Amino acid sequence: MRKILTLFISIFILTACGGNQIKKDNQKQEQKNVILVIADGTGPNLMGYLMEYARLAPNSPYKDRKSNLEKMFSMGKNGIVFNYTDSTIVTDSAAAATQFATGIKTYPEALGVNADGKKVNSVLYKAKQKGYATGVLTDVYVLDATPAAFYAHQANRKMRDGIIEDMTITQPDIVLGGGLDYFVSETDLENKKYADILARVPYIAEFKPQAEQDDNLAKVINNGYKLAFTKQEMNSLNEGKILGLFAPVYLPPYPPADWQGPTLLDMTKKAISDLSKNDKGFFLLVEAGFIDWVAHENAPQTVLRELLEFDETLAYIKKFADKSKNTLVIVTADHDTGGFGMAYYKPTKESKNDYNAFEKFNKLDSGKSFVYEVEQKYKALPKSEQNSDTIKKMFKEDFGYQENLDFLNGINDFKKAFKTYWEKQGIFWATKKHTNAPLFVVFYGDNAGIKDNVFHNTDLFKIMNNYLNK
Ligand SMILES: [Zn+2]
Repeated sequence: MRKILTLFISIFILTACGGNQIKKDNQKQEQKNVILVIADGTGPNLMGYLMEYARLAPNSPYKDRKSNLEKMFSMGKNGIVFNYTDSTIVTDSAAAATQFATGIKTYPEALGVNADGKKVNSVLYKAKQKGYATGVLTDVYVLDATPAAFYAHQANRKMRDGIIEDMTITQPDIVLGGGLDYFVSETDLENKKYADILARVPYIAEFKPQAEQDDNLAKVINNGYKLAFTKQEMNSLNEGKILGLFAPVYLPPYPPADWQGPTLLDMTKKAISDLSKNDKGFFLLVEAGFIDWVAHENAPQTVLRELLEFDETLAYIKKFADKSKNTLVIVTADHDTGGFGMAYYKPTKESKNDYNAFEKFNKLDSGKSFVYEVEQKYKALPKSEQNSDTIKKMFKEDFGYQENLDFLNGINDFKKAFKTYWEKQGIFWATKKHTNAPLFVVFYGDNAGIKDNVFHNTDLFKIMNNYLNK
């Protein structure tokens, strides 16, 4: 009898536990997430640069020689994306982001408005209305075009005070990146309005107030945002809305030794961990924005560094999607920047294995300076000191180019010297601007609903919105 009773109890416990398990899984089934990853300025040639580096560099950091981007391409559904605007072949980030955020074509520089200047609502806005948690994060500034197109409506991307106002209306749960400079005006600073808050800012020496209006920071605080200026502050905030401002404008590609801010990966981890607490699920935009900035500088070594940081973040997102089963991840770019390319040359006996070039590009990243900053330093020198000797010295000290640089003799223009240097390494750029190149896209995770392979960027809105409404 006792044995039978034990058996009954055991069966009861097993069934009860099993039932709970099923209930739990069902709850998870109902949770749906969209993660949109935008590698800003990263045309197919730059995505190729990352994947070829992973495959071919003699000391590739990837043991299996596959970047996470390549792994996602090989397991996901892939396609190409056209990104022309309402009126132009080539786009800027604002029109591109408005188009994939809202599904409506618009004009360059526009944020969250259509071609007639009328407000259009984004997938983030619609997701929030439906009860999803929402977030945007970037390694440039939180008011920059890509994140702002998801929460703001302004005729021009430069209307930063208006963008902040819009942030307080749309209220994404999580906003992470740089840009404290645009939240504080000179008058705010003179009136010591935020003395207590600014005392917490570790990068205060580099901070320059640039807001045109006063009280921007007060506005976000009054709307319930808690501020984080360091990685530690960010991770300690567990409730309510978070605005992370980790740098004056952009997160440094070469962080100083005393850097206390997060990386793109740190921000992504925090956002996913917080947003996934919501029963319904979430929408998250992750922007690797600095790739575009350094592609504008035609700086291949910093581009590579930024691509690797983007790819490190993809590894985490991929893992999350593999576990969750109800997450659609879209990885693409908004436009190509620079028209990057390596040019063919006929190999000689000595140069037979030119895969070493990848190692060289890596080595040529001294980890000290961002080209734009060094160029500004050069331009600030008295005219008499602006010559090729100074340029050669700066290339050695700031970029770590240790070889003989005499081929730069006689070049006094910084940009020209930089271009000449890289062309000698076989690297060419078509322009310092954006190009027309159609883009790669990969749909990873819960991608069963994707039927096409050729898209316009407005289609991405429909795919994300349909997924969250399913
Ligand atoms: Zn750009």
